[in-house]
Amino acid sequence: MLDNRDLLVARACDTPGLAIHAGWGWQAGQASVYFEMKKASADPTVHAAYEEVDREINPMTDCIESEFGWIVKGNDWSLPELQAIQTAGSQIRSYVDTLTNGRGQHWMGRYLAGATFRHGGLFGGGYSFVSGRTIHLTTNWVDEGSPHIAHELAHVWDNRSGLERHRPEAIWFGGGAADIFQEALGGGKVSGLRWMNGRNHKLPSDHQYPKEEYANHSTADYFADTFKYMLFYPDLLKKEVPGSANLIRHMQILIGIQASR
Ligand SMILES: [Zn+2]
Repeated sequence: MLDNRDLLVARACDTPGLAIHAGWGWQAGQASVYFEMKKASADPTVHAAYEEVDREINPMTDCIESEFGWIVKGNDWSLPELQAIQTAGSQIRSYVDTLTNGRGQHWMGRYLAGATFRHGGLFGGGYSFVSGRTIHLTTNWVDEGSPHIAHELAHVWDNRSGLERHRPEAIWFGGGAADIFQEALGGGKVSGLRWMNGRNHKLPSDHQYPKEEYANHSTADYFADTFKYMLFYPDLLKKEVPGSANLIRHMQILIGIQASR
């Protein structure tokens, strides 16, 4: 049965930016009401009355879950944070759609579904990190926004493709998409703990990032940063890495093969 709540969530999902207001309309029992809620939220008495409902259903997280199968854990997410997650999802899907003739949703379902976002990074919260499909986000991640999410999702992708080859936690022990990528680019056999094994000196020099770049941190981050740059900063990638066209080509081939399965 489609109740008012579902209706609101559906409408809110189709109306980016309005999602966060939808919870208030539900209480009033009319789908159309939430269009008025921007005004209402400025009134403290109205705001207080609906606050409970809003916390309970948070339509924006519902949108993210129904669209991408991603879980946002906890009640302490700001609107810009949720928007950045949703934008990352839309961006990835449309990129892969273009690349694979509309198989973006399929590819994401296979490699990114079940991704779970949590607050709280590693080393006192200073670094975001990924374990399995769970993304633990550092305190100020939202300053970077969607590109930050794309980087972390690439680690989930790495882990998921490792699992397909019976290699758990590729971000630690390899066997996932990041290894395939590095080897395809001529980086030779990869070794070491993949999230901290340093710059790959066996890669052709025109495939390397400038020394100060985070991509040099490890095999996993070379892969994750390339995904991020390809999606969000293709011009910068071109400027920083002379052989960038080959990086993009190989990443696209990898996605294309996976999406066709
Ligand atoms: Zn990383």
